[in-house]
Amino acid sequence: MSPAGLIDDARRRIDAARRVVVLTGAGISTESGIPDFRGPSGVWTRNPAAEKQSTIQNYLAEPDVRRAAWRARLDSPTWNAAPNAGHRALVALERRGKLHALVTQNIDELHQRAGQSPALVVEVHGSMRRVMCWQCGRRAPMEEALARVRADEQDPHCLDCGGILKSDTISFGQSLVPEVIDRALNAAADCDLLLAIGTTLQVQPVASMVPIAARAGARVVIVNDQPTAMDELADVVVREPIGSVLAAICGAAPG
Ligand SMILES: [Zn+2]
Repeated sequence: MSPAGLIDDARRRIDAARRVVVLTGAGISTESGIPDFRGPSGVWTRNPAAEKQSTIQNYLAEPDVRRAAWRARLDSPTWNAAPNAGHRALVALERRGKLHALVTQNIDELHQRAGQSPALVVEVHGSMRRVMCWQCGRRAPMEEALARVRADEQDPHCLDCGGILKSDTISFGQSLVPEVIDRALNAAADCDLLLAIGTTLQVQPVASMVPIAARAGARVVIVNDQPTAMDELADVVVREPIGSVLAAICGAAPG
């Protein structure tokens, strides 16, 4: 089928669905200028030190790694990134009353900034807009910690207990939060259409949302610029730029 035919097919399936669960990965945010960490030109591919900063054991044990991580956070492209057409299209889907849950692997909060209801967003990898104290568990806005770094605190610690602060995200070597993963998998089992966007669907357990939804009888639509591990389970696979595809398939039905 031609790209236009596939987009039309995907749009009609979404028009017919009542309970859509969306899964988003890094690909939806690259059009906002946030690099994909694992892709060929991704951050870790170009800078192995960045990978060390993202490994929990190194981060907790090595003050040098934390100081470098804080400097890198100051310069993150995320702070100036704005939601793009893809994020906005998913807000339109919510306004049509079709969105049951939006599970994201992204830590940029661009879905919420686009206007998505926070209650519908399941952040399986946390958010880099918050910090968490590794000792007492206190969470606080990232901006407060960054202000301290700008004021020359190279490795700011928790103001309550003195513990190590880290972005409230899942680092390498750190366990996912079981309640959050359960919520994501349960949503997949309870939808009539799963829309997977901008992820190659290789990382478990989140990738298993696709077979879980398919087994439960849901339709599966995949939008990604490259092949994914789950393409054969999908009813429709669209490999076109994500923002324009989502604008075409998630907006209001014509007429
Ligand atoms: Zn603390």
